[in-house]
Amino acid sequence: MEKLIYLDNAATTALKPEVLEAMQPYFLENYGNPNSVYTFAQKSKKAVEEAREAIAGLLGAQADEIYFTAGGSESDNWAIKGCAEKLASKGKHIITTKIEHHAVLHTCEYLEKHGYEITYLDVDEYGQIRLEELEQAVRPDTILISIMFANNEIGTIEPVREIGAIAKKHGVLFHTDAVQAFGHLPIDVNELNIDMLSASAHKFHGPKGAGFLYIRNGVKPVSLIHGGAQERSKRAGTTNVPGIIGMGKAAQAAAEGMAENGRRMADIRDYFIKRVLEEIPYSRLNGHPKERLDNNINFCFRFIEGESLLIMLDQKGICASSGSACTSGSLDPSHVLLAIGLPHEIAHGSLRLTLSEENTMEEADYVADCLKIIVERLRSMSPLYEDFVKNQKEV
Ligand SMILES: *Cc1c(COP(=O)(O)O)cnc(C)c1O
Repeated sequence: MEKLIYLDNAATTALKPEVLEAMQPYFLENYGNPNSVYTFAQKSKKAVEEAREAIAGLLGAQADEIYFTAGGSESDNWAIKGCAEKLASKGKHIITTKIEHHAVLHTCEYLEKHGYEITYLDVDEYGQIRLEELEQAVRPDTILISIMFANNEIGTIEPVREIGAIAKKHGVLFHTDAVQAFGHLPIDVNELNIDMLSASAHKFHGPKGAGFLYIRNGVKPVSLIHGGAQERSKRAGTTNVPGIIGMGKAAQAAAEGMAENGRRMADIRDYFIKRVLEEIPYSRLNGHPKERLDNNINFCFRFIEGESLLIMLDQKGICASSGSACTSGSLDPSHVLLAIGLPHEIAHGSLRLTLSEENTMEEADYVADCLKIIVERLRSMSPLYEDFVKNQKEV
């Protein structure tokens, strides 16, 4: 088989060698528990606090506003359930969107079973919320707005600044799932009026099982994980020292390379999109044409099953996704594609390609060439397509 071409960076990313190098001493040499008193453990404690400061600095936050977690799902659960419980006496209404990651959607569905009311905002054809609808949805008993920074399937970036302003105006807390955005877009939590922000290391070339929740000082979600006094008694569990060190290193590397890598990926993205739209008939770009992540490409191909496409791309050594990794394996079309208004049969033929800074123009050409052949072959086997072509000729 040919060389592997990995185009599923929204699902997870490769660890950077320099990140592994930074983590390694904390497995074999400095394995001390940072909460222990002896000098030996202080090395790990110091490194963890340096990672906390580095991450805070990248967000314009204070170090004591960063809480380490086991990843994006935990951070989302904590922010939403923690605020719901804390503010229950003030109100039980939460606003989110129809296109959130399941870590947010399923958390909200869980809260609905426990007496909370959730408004799931619609999005427009590009996947952006309408600000008037958000403003109209705010009620006296609204306690939280949770809207993602950028969508993991179609790459659309939400109008976060305006959302933050609306939340502030109405005195409602604003949480954003920034798992796809952190490391890709510059974020200042103060400028954007963000009260809580979730991120996950394995989405920006850090290790799996490490993430953080930014919590603005004064905002006090109740704890999700009870136990020891780690993370200023807010999140129990022995500190994941290597994971946190790796996340800190990966965050710094992402920030340093952000502008240049972003430009390079956007060039490849735009070139690929242009080629596909020009060369593959009945293809459609999903997501916003401009307000989109530099690394996100998402198409629908009519008369095709996304799953068959993935299998044939895999045979060419190409790793891609249809919808999100969490929903593939089920036959339901993506909730995000349905929310942007696509009918089921079109949403089924979706393909998501998400780049990293390692991908090249040569790879883009190779994948576009393969895709063209595969789509043609699948269509040639499709009775639907055959009928469609026949009807077109008769008209
Ligand atoms: C991957 C992802 C998550 C979940 O993060 P984990 O660290 O894998 O738990 C949450 N939200 C978004 C937008 C994601 O892309």
